[in-house]
Amino acid sequence: MGEAPVTGNVRKLIDDPSFPNQWQVKGEHLGHKLLWKDGESKEYGVHGTMVGTDFDICIADGICITVCPTNVFDRMDIPSEQEKMDKGTPNDSGKALLAIWKADPAREQDCIFCRACEIQCPVQAIKITEP
Ligand code: SF4
Repeated sequence: MGEAPVTGNVRKLIDDPSFPNQWQVKGEHLGHKLLWKDGESKEYGVHGTMVGTDFDICIADGICITVCPTNVFDRMDIPSEQEKMDKGTPNDSGKALLAIWKADPAREQDCIFCRACEIQCPVQAIKITEP
């Protein structure tokens, strides 16, 4: 069976010039910020500032973990995503989730700004911003 057609606007963090400076800081997680934009963020928001990773868009295919030369990302389990997986519900990227975790930029301070993750992410959930 083919992929479900995407309807409506598909968000891409990378196209949002207001990120990260005009986004709200909603909290912290393992030393990086949790950023949020009203009307844009839906459930989880964006983890990280230099390596902004939109959890609402991430489909957990893991390419960022594979390509990152400095091991910035960790898998962060989100068991409640299982229901969406079971139903094949498209997330904000327009694609269905592949796994019950998200790619967390747990060590964004180790980023060397090679942009491999940003380029390779199939749903453009990552935006690199050099300080
Ligand atoms: S830009 Fe490069 S070093 Fe930084 S998180 Fe992405 S893959 Fe890793």
